[in-house]
Amino acid sequence: MSEIADKNKKRNAENYEESIDKRSSESGLLKNNQEHLSKRQRVEGIDNNPYLAHRQLTKSPLDGWFPGRTTAEQARIAEDGDINPFTNKPFSKRYRELLKARRTLPVHAQRKEFLDLVHENQFVVFVGETGSGKTTQIPQFLCYDILPHLKKKQIACTQPRRVAAMSVAQRVADEMDFKLGEEVGYNIRFEDCSGPKTMLKYLTDGMLLREAMNDPNLEKYSAIILDEAHERTLATDILMGLMKQIAKARKDLKVIVMSATLDAEKFQRYFNDAPVLTVPGRTFPVEIYYTPEAERDYLEAAIRTVMQIHEYEPPGDILLFLTGEEEIENACLKIRTENEDLMKRSDIGTLKVLPLYSSLPPQQQQRIFEDAPPPRVKDGKPGRKVIVSTNIAETSLTIDGIVYVVDPGFSKQKVYNPRIRVESLLVSPISKASAQQRAGRAGRTRAGKCFRLYTEKAFLKELQEQTYPEILRSNLAPETLMRALELLNYLGALDDDGNLTGDGILMAEFPLDPQLAKMLIESPKYRCSNEILSIAALLSVPNIFVRPNESKKQAEDAKGKFAHTDGDHLTLLNVYHAYKTNINDPEWCYNNYLSARSLKSADNVRQQLKRIMERCDQDLISTSFEDKNYYTNIRKALTAGFFMQVAHLEKSGHYLTCKDNQIVQLHPSSSLGHQPEWVLYNEFVLTTKNYIRTVTEVKADWLLDIAPVYYDLR
Ligand code: ADP
Ligand code: MG
Repeated sequence: MSEIADKNKKRNAENYEESIDKRSSESGLLKNNQEHLSKRQRVEGIDNNPYLAHRQLTKSPLDGWFPGRTTAEQARIAEDGDINPFTNKPFSKRYRELLKARRTLPVHAQRKEFLDLVHENQFVVFVGETGSGKTTQIPQFLCYDILPHLKKKQIACTQPRRVAAMSVAQRVADEMDFKLGEEVGYNIRFEDCSGPKTMLKYLTDGMLLREAMNDPNLEKYSAIILDEAHERTLATDILMGLMKQIAKARKDLKVIVMSATLDAEKFQRYFNDAPVLTVPGRTFPVEIYYTPEAERDYLEAAIRTVMQIHEYEPPGDILLFLTGEEEIENACLKIRTENEDLMKRSDIGTLKVLPLYSSLPPQQQQRIFEDAPPPRVKDGKPGRKVIVSTNIAETSLTIDGIVYVVDPGFSKQKVYNPRIRVESLLVSPISKASAQQRAGRAGRTRAGKCFRLYTEKAFLKELQEQTYPEILRSNLAPETLMRALELLNYLGALDDDGNLTGDGILMAEFPLDPQLAKMLIESPKYRCSNEILSIAALLSVPNIFVRPNESKKQAEDAKGKFAHTDGDHLTLLNVYHAYKTNINDPEWCYNNYLSARSLKSADNVRQQLKRIMERCDQDLISTSFEDKNYYTNIRKALTAGFFMQVAHLEKSGHYLTCKDNQIVQLHPSSSLGHQPEWVLYNEFVLTTKNYIRTVTEVKADWLLDIAPVYYDLR
């Protein structure tokens, strides 16, 4: 065994030497590089390559070539070499192309300054214009410099959005010439694309917060980068507090806070006067146009503006900001149709219309980086790319080539309504700071134009300066905290003194809301854990039912085939079982007005939850389908998690929630065949009316049996 290992080692070393020899015949810089390497590496093989040392682990990795740490210059030499120093494989051609482009990014000029600051300080605040290379380059600088893998540690870079985490990880894996999921990976809820070799991980801020629950000092990281700090998401804000604490216990941990806007002094003050490094922006002027009068229908105005740009403006791509998936898909459809019409009537180039929002599958997300269509052959009319995006494109993802921005002035924001204690996403006006960020997207590669679909007066008088940080908009009031503790206490996760119980510890293993986790750990008792696993997974993915505007009736009929009169949870389960019977066939999904994407992702989530159940020794069992209690058992297990989300049918004919006496109606999408006296619901939706959605009938005596403390006191 060890003989083989020795041989392999020798062979690796030979390969390495061979390529070094080849390198010596190339350019001056490479010659330098070779001389640099030759002192020890050529003689002793690769053991002294600190990048690779974790794979050899025979000698002190920091001994020799790099005195203690890599200098920016040494790292550059390694990047310029022939061989990927982390994998010992030759760099690909694409790597070199990307490297050339990377070196032109503004952050590169400050590589050394940045790394020096990091070595001298525990906290560093890094500020740079969107697109300057913060998210993609800074983590790479750190990888080449602090060599986290040598201490079996990782570098984490947080992102407020799942899409950004996935997309950037892919990009950086390409740039470093790794396979995604190996040295560079990402981790978002229900999707861990990382492995034992991972040294750089992009993850959502929520995931890092979760990791901190199990590992309060975040021991597995040698550096933590909080990206997009200016967004002030709840999770990032909490992480900032946490970092301050952890840093006291872990003097070796480096914390880098990255932000796009210039209110960096706030972060600086918060982190004990940490140094701020600012990358000078490199943007071109953007001309701003306002509408003379307020637009009545911003969607219609937006589409009209896009078409006018395409028809009359010089070449350049267009970015339109809208608020959500449905609106974006509709707009894309309309723009495509209008362009087809326009192509018939007038002389106009090709338009490639691409949506961008968080639930879009990764391959489709990557399409925004494709080139615009070429000019038309016969007369050179420019082809263009139009990207219709949510706020993601405001600062998290940079798309080169955008020259025109269309900004209707809205985004979806989390708003807490204290009256009914419900948090919801509402379309709200953006802030001035957001409007400026959006406009900036037009001036990345050359001078651009931004069309604001509101009046200048509205911009000046009506828009807030900054969006309030989420932490100020969220339900963190003491009363809400009390209610959260109360919920955990009723669920048996906290005892009366506020200590975590055995059940609580078990529930915390699941990346789920406490009600769902409770339902899962109770389900073996009701002999239906297999089914409850499926339901929990289905409740954790986007809606599985598709309802296209043009075929609502057909979609409803299709859904009817799966409907269970006792409740929507059971309907979901029916769909899932049919999906499995039809061997996960996307075409079957399409024919039945079901989202193949959501079902596939539910399947994946289920796998993960199942693994956690197994790890926690929870039995996986089912009641026989022939047993008359098959569905009753499932409904009882649902009750065990959701007994606090129950509504009662009043004499007046409407429902009243037990928790806080809100008048509610069953959501029209419900498949309940009747109006039962007691129902349990998955969510409270606030539109024009108060609705409860995903509803299942329960019985009064189950409530008394299952949650006596909660119901007897009432
Ligand atoms: P910042 O975080 O400072 O906003 P990024 O590091 O995200 O900047 O992006 C730097 C540059 O990298 C962008 O301007 C763009 O040219 C390029 N880039 C980033 N992601 C991709 C991608 N997936 N495909 C192509 N180019 C990309
Ligand atoms: Mg970024």
